[in-house]
Amino acid sequence: MKRINKQCLICREEFLPKSVASVYCSAKCSKKAYKLKLLQLKNEVALKALADKIPENRAFISVPEAGMLFGIAKRTLYRLVRQGIIPSVNLGTRLLRIDRKVMEGMFGRACNLSQPERAPKKKLYSLEKEDCYSIGEIAQRFQISESSVYNHIRKYSIPTRQIGKHVYAPKMEIDNLYNGNDFL
Ligand SMILES: [Zn+2]
Repeated sequence: MKRINKQCLICREEFLPKSVASVYCSAKCSKKAYKLKLLQLKNEVALKALADKIPENRAFISVPEAGMLFGIAKRTLYRLVRQGIIPSVNLGTRLLRIDRKVMEGMFGRACNLSQPERAPKKKLYSLEKEDCYSIGEIAQRFQISESSVYNHIRKYSIPTRQIGKHVYAPKMEIDNLYNGNDFL
């Protein structure tokens, strides 16, 4: 049987394959392909590990987190946000957040959500004083004004409780809203 030239998957040069299964022109290209494959695997594992650290129930995610979860370059995301294609909320300086639901609507489910369906977790916030921050504490902790805190609480329907002169909101809900480090 006459063999026909193939194009090497690495260097794109045409070559006469030694067997029908050959896809690389030389040992050099084959080695390069192997190295690339390993690197790709390593990146996938690293990304998965990082993505697993982002709680599934957090509604607002940072741009680096969104990039990781949905496999989209940060630069692309920042551009889409700037163009208003992806709506975002700016919770303060360097606190740009994207609604995870919007991302899922645009890009499908995030990689750490692709596992078999789990029973939806019940919201377990507690309004006991020890499980809450006062508005003043939130403002101090996240370096934003108290009026911004009140705005966000209203906007995102976070439950509150008045104890004496102070208003309290569940730590869990507040942490969910403001956390998410720009760690990439
Ligand atoms: Zn080659």
